[in-house]
Amino acid sequence: MMEKILVSACLLGRPVRYNGSAKPLAHPSLERWRQEGRVVAICPELTAGFSVPRPPAEIAGGKDGHAVLAGSARVFEATGGDVTDLFVAGARAALALARQHDCRFALLIDGSPSCGSGFIHDGSFSGHRHPGAGVTATLLRDHGIEVFSDSEVEALERRLSPRA
Ligand code: SF4
Repeated sequence: MMEKILVSACLLGRPVRYNGSAKPLAHPSLERWRQEGRVVAICPELTAGFSVPRPPAEIAGGKDGHAVLAGSARVFEATGGDVTDLFVAGARAALALARQHDCRFALLIDGSPSCGSGFIHDGSFSGHRHPGAGVTATLLRDHGIEVFSDSEVEALERRLSPRA
């Protein structure tokens, strides 16, 4: 059976980021997975009800997705709105979609308070990043889904083809 892969919609070229842009990832492996029909696109934030454009958001206080899911950190928009509940809802929707398609792997764009898996921003909206994962990446991992960032396509490729 072909493994399906949950992929950030903005990596697939959909203009769903807060500023209305996409971050299309041009990689032959991703292109092949698309052609094979293995790609399941998700934008957790849009699925939760955010619109495009929207204010940028960060997990406050240098915390991470674990803390948000544990109820000990909040997600704020740069304009001050508390959007924690929507971020958690987006993560749950992503997990539900992954389960629906039996995805054991996800390829998510790094740095996002939802999709980040290696680094996120610290809540100061000043460009400071720190190691950690966003809310969606954390919830997926908590449920056994392996999350790879956009800089780890080769690692995901190897994981999908263990014979190589
Ligand atoms: Fe891309 Fe994820 Fe942000 Fe949606 S939530 S725009 S898929 S990084």
